[in-house]
Amino acid sequence: MPGFEIFGDEERKEVQDVLDTGVLFRYGFDQARKGHWKAKTFEAELAERVGVKYSHLCSSGTSALCIALASCGVGAGDEVIVPPFTFIATIEAVLGAGAVPVFAEIDETLCLDPEAVRAVITPRTKAVLPVHMCGAMARIDEIKDLCAQKQIFLIEDACQAIGGTFNGKALGSFGQMGCFSFDPVKTITCGEGGAVVTSDEKLYKTAEAYADHGHDHTGDDRGLEGHPVLGTNYRISELNAAVGLAQLRKLDYILKKQRASKKAIKDALSRFSEITFRKIPDEKGDSATFLSFFLPEESIARKIAGDLGSAGIDACFYWYDNNWHYIRKWDHLKKLKSAAKLPVRLFENCPDYEKVNLPQSDQIMSRTISMLIKLSWTEDELKQRIEKIVEIISA
Ligand SMILES: *Cc1c(COP(=O)(O)O)cnc(C)c1O
Repeated sequence: MPGFEIFGDEERKEVQDVLDTGVLFRYGFDQARKGHWKAKTFEAELAERVGVKYSHLCSSGTSALCIALASCGVGAGDEVIVPPFTFIATIEAVLGAGAVPVFAEIDETLCLDPEAVRAVITPRTKAVLPVHMCGAMARIDEIKDLCAQKQIFLIEDACQAIGGTFNGKALGSFGQMGCFSFDPVKTITCGEGGAVVTSDEKLYKTAEAYADHGHDHTGDDRGLEGHPVLGTNYRISELNAAVGLAQLRKLDYILKKQRASKKAIKDALSRFSEITFRKIPDEKGDSATFLSFFLPEESIARKIAGDLGSAGIDACFYWYDNNWHYIRKWDHLKKLKSAAKLPVRLFENCPDYEKVNLPQSDQIMSRTISMLIKLSWTEDELKQRIEKIVEIISA
């Protein structure tokens, strides 16, 4: 998966352009920057790639989520439906907005189950925030229909799914807004960075203003710009944007390589009748950053994950027992441990997160193993890896 594995001359060249001018700021300095607009160029290429009208590059995937929530008007006391299998950033962004995360079950897509989403919608639900986890999609058409029917916002967390599509349409382009991350371990990286995408001009204008202290970015004197809203600073630097620009241009290569490696491993595992694979609503649109599969029982999954680890097969994850991506081990969330009192505590619709009960998700996650697909594997390394994996699972 990680784009850093193929960091090379292309990235160095883009960064050098910026160093040569010394203009690290993404706005203004029109003369001094000698035609280099790395953030702007990235935005144009990303919007084109995702098939939306607008994109705004920002400092992280987390800030992209914060920008999207704010731009959609999600704020104090609003409920946002989220999955329990994600990176904690999704939940932190909702809490940061002063809104209330409401958990719904995932299904065998490892993403939000549309039926489960429907079941937790209340009059206070303002948005659904599905996460396209581990490179592949939720049942996003059904979730989109549901949101339209209930007139609530759909904001996609596509931080792990750049390059993924559903029926030919890019993940991140189904909702009013989509969010991407370009942190150091994502499919493509800016070092640190993120982006929001949308085809709604009003949402875009709010987003780019909010991400830069409310500046409306009109005219050529920053000091004279208008401020339609209060905002904050979620800006990206030109240096980070430059790295990302080179990486974005490698996306097709990355997808092709990942898909080939994933297929080889999946084909090898298909011989085991006990193994079933994550449901992917549109296999062709899988960005193939991970291969995820189910074992018949929790005990078997835990054992195999342990054996893979002891045999030195790196980058295999049993999320149910680690505290990274699944709610079961998020003690800080369950106890709402925060640096300062969170707005969510003030609302009577604040759930008791220690009592969140998600049997369907537990049932799925306790049997799931995910294997990261690396870009740096040689043919030989991949072959040897597959042989070892097959040996371990056979045993
Ligand atoms: C990485 C990630 C984020 C946050 O992105 P950062 O750029 O690290 O802030 C949000 N959601 C998901 C699903 C992620 O994987």
